[in-house]
Amino acid sequence: MIEVERIQNVDLDYLTYLLNISTHDEEIFRTADEIRRRYVGEEIHLRAIIEFSNICTQNCLYCGLRAENKDIKRYRMPLESIIERAELISELGIKTVVLQSGEDPYYTTERVTQLITEIRKFNLAITLSIGERKFEEYKIWKQAGADRYLMRHETASPELYAKLHPHDSFENRKAHLLELKRLGYETGAGCMVGLPGQTPRDLALDLAFLKELDADMIGIGPFIPNADTPLANEKGGDLQTTLKMVALARIVVPTANIPATTALGSIHPLGRQLGMKYGANVIMPNLTPNPYRPNYSLYPGKICLFEKDTACVECTKNMITGLGLKVGSGYGYRIEKVRAQ
Ligand code: SAH
Ligand code: SF4
Repeated sequence: MIEVERIQNVDLDYLTYLLNISTHDEEIFRTADEIRRRYVGEEIHLRAIIEFSNICTQNCLYCGLRAENKDIKRYRMPLESIIERAELISELGIKTVVLQSGEDPYYTTERVTQLITEIRKFNLAITLSIGERKFEEYKIWKQAGADRYLMRHETASPELYAKLHPHDSFENRKAHLLELKRLGYETGAGCMVGLPGQTPRDLALDLAFLKELDADMIGIGPFIPNADTPLANEKGGDLQTTLKMVALARIVVPTANIPATTALGSIHPLGRQLGMKYGANVIMPNLTPNPYRPNYSLYPGKICLFEKDTACVECTKNMITGLGLKVGSGYGYRIEKVRAQ
């Protein structure tokens, strides 16, 4: 029998042990599913994502959008197109939009504020995922009406973080996430699984950090090597370990909103379904319009590059109902009070 209390107390030795062997995986999965049911219920929330720019000044070693990658076609969506797209999302009955991009200075404090002000009119919860910005900007955007901010911590191992991020540190990333929390954002963190050199102990540190932050949203996906990056020849993260991390995250932060990530769906045809079976309660249909969509190439093999660009909405809804779960009808804010016990 697994010791749920030791998981929830983020006992690092115990978590490392569980991550090292597969003996207890089925029980971890079952426990995560029960906890998901008990704390956040049967609803799976849809968050429509618009990847509005693939221009980035950063050089994260794993990412296809890194500034030094000259092999992708770069784009920036005009503000009007982003706003139009948000309106369409609202018309499709979705209640949350995620605005994601590389760290792109074109979208200044004022431009992002304008986006928030306009998009709020469509009665959508707004999530920003545009990387590290000035603390002052986070404050202005919160006041303008942004509700949530997604910025994965990527890895909670300071050494590994430093290797993967030229000119950045885990300490700095953490300071940003704490500031977002302090400002009242629903704050999303999360990590990649299977990064080069990452150990089970490092993954245990990720879970401990998610608990310390009391992350409102937790995005966990496999690392997928991208041929256009310095990590081209590395091995990627595997399905089982990624699912185990999703399940453990659910046990560690029972009321968090946890997506079945696109990366999980990209390494296995049923990756996202399995994620929802083992703890996830959010899915993020891709609403990036064409012709831009295929150019948001974080990693190869990314799913959902359809011709009919609203197809992801129906597809994800069918996935949810196919699993016997319900499509969320509200904004999907984090449940404030623990539902049971
Ligand atoms: N620039 C923003 C948002 C875009 S990147 C930011 O960095 O926060 C969104 C996420 O894509 C990152 O947090 C990272 O975890 C993930 N990602 C990037 N490259 C990846 C790869 N090769 N494999 C898997 N996930 C990757
Ligand atoms: Fe830029 Fe985000 Fe990719 Fe890093 S992970 S290179 S910040 S888009």
